[in-house]
Parts: sequence; C-alpha cells; structure tokens
Amino acid sequence: ALDVTWAVKWLTLSAQAMAEHRVELIELDRAIGDSDHGENMDRGFQAVLDKLAEAPPQTPGAALKLTAMTLMSKVGGAAGPLYGTAFLRAAASLGDAAEIEPAAWAGALAAARDGIVARGKAESGDKTMVDAWTPAVDAARKAALDGNGDVLTVLVAAAEAAEAGAVATDPMVARKGRASYLGERSAGHRDPGAASSALILRAAVGAAA
Ligand code: ADP
Ligand code: MG
Ligand code: MG
Repeated sequence: ALDVTWAVKWLTLSAQAMAEHRVELIELDRAIGDSDHGENMDRGFQAVLDKLAEAPPQTPGAALKLTAMTLMSKVGGAAGPLYGTAFLRAAASLGDAAEIEPAAWAGALAAARDGIVARGKAESGDKTMVDAWTPAVDAARKAALDGNGDVLTVLVAAAEAAEAGAVATDPMVARKGRASYLGERSAGHRDPGAASSALILRAAVGAAA
C-alpha cells in the first residue's frame, strides 16, 4: 500500500534523481532557458530531505505538504511555485488518509496537474511540465479504472506516460515560460520541467517496488 513510508521513500528517490540528473536538467535548460533548472530542483529536494529528517510526517498527505512548502521556499524561478502548488494540491486531495488507493492516487495526480495549470495557465502542447503531467493523469485514471486494484500498475502507467510526454515536447514550440522567448528556436529541445516531472513520477514507482 502507498503509506507514509512509501511517500518518504518516493521523496528520497526523487531527491536522488534530481542529484543524479542535475547536469542533464541544467543542459536542457541551457538550450531553451537560463541553465538553472537542475540546480533549482537539486537544491529544493535536498532541502526536502532535511525537512523530512527534522520533522518526520505521519501521513502521505503531510509528507507532500511539507514538500510543497519546502519547494516553494527553496526552488524559486518558475518551477518552485509550480511544483509547490502541485504538491500542495496533491496533499489536500489525499487529506489525512494513512494509505492511498489507486483511484485516490490518480485523483492526487489530477489535483497536482490542475494546480500547475491554475498557477501557470499553460495548455497541453505549450511545451511545459503540463505535457508530462496531463498524459500521466490520463494514464493513471485509466489504469485505476481498468486495473485489478494493483497500485503499482497505476504508478507505472503514470511514469511511462510522463516519460513519453516529456519526449513529445522535443518538437514543440514553447508558448509559456522562458523558452517561449525563443519562439520557433525552442523546437528541437526537450522541456526541462517535463523531464524533471517524469523523473519524479518514475521515482514513485521505485519507492513501491
Ligand atoms: P525558470 O524558467 O524561472 O528559470 P526553471 O528553469 O526552474 O525556472 O523551470 C523551467 C520549467 O518550468 C520549464 O521547463 C517548464 O516546464 C516550467 N514552466 C515554466 N513556465 C510554466 C508555465 N506557465 N506553466 C507550466 N510550466 C511552466
Ligand atoms: Mg531556468
Ligand atoms: Mg531561472
């Protein structure tokens, strides 16, 4: 079951992924932004690890709320408030439940995505992290409905869809964020926020495996 131990492991593996892919995310942001995405995310998630150690959360929702607050204060730029809102909305959607069922996880992902959209006003195809999150939400909902109640199936479906969604940003022309300043020249590069989103959703699988 997806309980608080899973949630803490997810955030720990997310922090590891941000550290491991720091340079790659910096390079993606160098091509179409200002080269700081890997550094922002690595710094933010290391701070999340510190907070988790300082004040161990009692529920998955509490773990995500702590993550939201930390990312908002430590990440900065466009991604800080966007990820902060995503984790805050996901936390609110989970409430104080001790365990997350498949449908609740799909609902939390949808709440996170809706928060990103409410904050950043990007639509699908604008070459942002929304292009990773929306396919993940759709795949998770479908897997939760079709599935046999196996939560791992839902986590895997979301991660795979987010990864495909990130790859699909390559040919897109950016219409939101810094990359949009480049216009047509933003095409041919992967969106860094979509790439980091896919890494975070992949870490959710690792935490449950
Ligand atoms: P900054 O652009 O301020 O340097 P980051 O480099 O940390 O911030 O994050 C850039 C990422 O933020 C982009 O790759 C994109 O995925 C995401 N992003 C930027 N603006 C928006 C927006 N309006 N809606 C959704 N995502 C956005
Ligand atoms: Mg940047
Ligand atoms: Mg910046």
